[in-house]
Amino acid sequence: MIGFVRLLARNQLALAGGVVLAIVVVIAAAAPILPLQAPQVTNTADRFLPPFSDGHLLGTDHLGRDLLSRLIWGTRLSLSVGFAAAVIAAVIGSAIGIVAGYFGGRIDNVVMRGVDMLMAFPYILLALAIVAALGPGLLNALIAVAAVNIPFFARNIRGVTVGIAGREFIDAARLSGKGHLAILTTELLPNVVPVIVIAMSTTVGWMILETAGLSFLGLGSQPPVADLGSMLGEARSALITNPHTSLVPGLMIFVIVMSINLLGDGVRDALDPRLRSGALSRPQPATTVRRTGPVPDGPGAGALDLQRLETRFHVGRRVFRAVNEVSLTVGRGECVGLIGESGSGKSVTALSVMKLVSSPPGVITGGAVFREGDDLVGARHDTLRRLRGDRVAYIFQDPLSTLHPLMRVGDQLAEAIRVHHAVGRDALRRRAVELLKAVRIPNAESRIDAYPHQLSGGMRQRVGIAMALANDPDIIIADEPTTALDVTVQAQILALLDDLRRERGLSILFITHDFGVVAQLCDRVAVMYAGQIVEEGPTGEVLDRPGHPYTRRLIACVPELGGGRRQLHAIPGLPPAVDALPAGCAFAPRCDKTRDACRQGPIALERRGRRAVRCLYPEHAAHAPEAAQ
Ligand code: ADP
Repeated sequence: MIGFVRLLARNQLALAGGVVLAIVVVIAAAAPILPLQAPQVTNTADRFLPPFSDGHLLGTDHLGRDLLSRLIWGTRLSLSVGFAAAVIAAVIGSAIGIVAGYFGGRIDNVVMRGVDMLMAFPYILLALAIVAALGPGLLNALIAVAAVNIPFFARNIRGVTVGIAGREFIDAARLSGKGHLAILTTELLPNVVPVIVIAMSTTVGWMILETAGLSFLGLGSQPPVADLGSMLGEARSALITNPHTSLVPGLMIFVIVMSINLLGDGVRDALDPRLRSGALSRPQPATTVRRTGPVPDGPGAGALDLQRLETRFHVGRRVFRAVNEVSLTVGRGECVGLIGESGSGKSVTALSVMKLVSSPPGVITGGAVFREGDDLVGARHDTLRRLRGDRVAYIFQDPLSTLHPLMRVGDQLAEAIRVHHAVGRDALRRRAVELLKAVRIPNAESRIDAYPHQLSGGMRQRVGIAMALANDPDIIIADEPTTALDVTVQAQILALLDDLRRERGLSILFITHDFGVVAQLCDRVAVMYAGQIVEEGPTGEVLDRPGHPYTRRLIACVPELGGGRRQLHAIPGLPPAVDALPAGCAFAPRCDKTRDACRQGPIALERRGRRAVRCLYPEHAAHAPEAAQ
């Protein structure tokens, strides 16, 4: 709840709407105790007094009644009727929607066809017909407005309910023996309430307008009682001669509806779970950079050189240190593996290279990434745009979510080339076919016109690789490109990447959590834990003689085919939350070799030749830092 209010307060327009609405509501609620003149007392001697007249701050109407007093009492009435209609429509409409969506089948058909019939009427005609049948009066106007809005809620909520009713947790509740009523109230309703609140917050303003409309036509509140709509209606004949009598209620309706709508939009955004973790704004095209410490000097080594890179996420008051002083070099034509458990910071490291971490909430707070002597972290956005997908390309884990579902794969490949190079249509098509052939897609000429969903997972990933190769990049950053594939396809994709690397002299930063994949493809490997590199070295050496206890335990978790039966020792516990890292070694709480010194303070990455280990008591004495030996 506090999080919701804080998110809402961050949206300034919603906050302004909320404040204005609160002021209006408080004044309207306090009408009986405010020193106002009686709203219905006429005084024909004082007709049409202008605003700021003696004793009448907003002037008087055609019967000499005080406009300020009528405005406040009228607002009170309009707000009450509008809110009451919204609550009634929401309760009845949502109940219909939930029942229809949950039970489905014939019940759904009968109920929703009835709702559709109501929706087929123009709503204002329907409201007029209801009031005509019931007779004019504010209560009947309220019933009419609520009734015409019931279908809106019923349709909305039914749609959401259908989606939820088919989910496994509802099946589980049913299997646990819960009855329909219990499932509806304890399982379904809590998941639907945010949608009801959102629908209500965005329709209350509309309902106030509809009630005002009916009153304006003389079908709502009856004289001498007036709501804002009937005040407008009565002032209609004096619109030209005494415009203030229309302006006063008109402006109030405008202010109420605007403030409710702004607040409603804010409520909708704040209740959207996808927006909770980030700010309410769209991510910027490049990650924000706020480097506090000294910036490492260039030009850097190899094709790509990450130096003391630091990336954080600022979510509310919490700071997630996803990448901490990561230094890593990828040589020309070299394949370097970055390995670690989920959440260890591998993807954020990879995305930080091209400033692709979404901001907010991501911020690069330190370090540099050198490519051909230039620091990419400090680079301008247009430089990055030129390099992205051209010199430095990415392959992501799930091609189904990265490929455009409504575009043919050939068009997507062509687009990847066209944004960087001016190439004619025919040449683009030829190049797209070549690329598909290069990644060993059979029948490339016909496959080029396929949509992503028409291809298998392995084929889609090949298209992803083809897209990365489209502009002959120097560096490919592959973020778990084979995780979603079965082992035979995975082996083919890895072999393909290896061939391409050798043919084209590509440098590859390969992110994975699988040591088998690293062994097959990578020259060197860096092991990440809780945002830090804890070990680095040539793949064979690290696999044969791991230096860090974490690496040893990770390798021990990999089953070995043909290696006989052995027990796999899972690493107990979970990686630490990166917003509350322990003072010393982040692995200490899970390590079987922890001593007091491990918990004292930060531990440096000790380099010995081509190996580096961040441990006071490594597996092999050759890696041990001098101080601890
Ligand atoms: P990996 O790729 O190793 O599985 P990630 O690089 O995706 O891990 O994530 C590293 C850490 O960054 C995680 O612990 C996660 O909590 C944090 N993180 C990633 N994205 C966000 C985000 N948008 N907001 C807050 N924290 C995030």
